[in-house]
Amino acid sequence: MLYKTHVAVTYAAALPMLLSTNSLTVGNVIAVGIGSVFPDIDHPGSYIGKRTRGVSDGIRLVFGHRGLAHSIAGAAFFLFVSQFVLAALGMPSIWSEWFLVGYLLHMVEDSFSKTGVAWLQPLYNKRIQFGFKKIYYSTGEWSESLIFLISCGLIVYQILQMYP
Ligand SMILES: [Zn+2]
Repeated sequence: MLYKTHVAVTYAAALPMLLSTNSLTVGNVIAVGIGSVFPDIDHPGSYIGKRTRGVSDGIRLVFGHRGLAHSIAGAAFFLFVSQFVLAALGMPSIWSEWFLVGYLLHMVEDSFSKTGVAWLQPLYNKRIQFGFKKIYYSTGEWSESLIFLISCGLIVYQILQMYP
């Protein structure tokens, strides 16, 4: 999935969560957005990977694309890192929770790709495909474009609901 689709789907899904928990702040929205693209730090050609060359090359070399960065263990690790960084910078710790929401939504989205995601690695390395291998999209193809358009529509709809 392209980064823009990850961002669109994640915001379409996260907006109701942000609203229902009274958490719609600029910081939280940015944190969700960073989380939504972050797992692809294991791919040097991805949006985030290109901006973190060196780190992304190393992660891909050691763990592979959709390796540990795309697992619950990876999410927990980067949650811990984000809490550490936010604390060191004196920034609100709540941002790390919304970063995690974006991160996990990214993994859900990748789980609907053809190959799925190995959520439980390194304990269990089998990839799980959420659509029972019947419902899936192909990266960069019309199925992904459709998901992108529907997500943008949902975001616009939700924003219009906010400001009637
Ligand atoms: Zn991914």
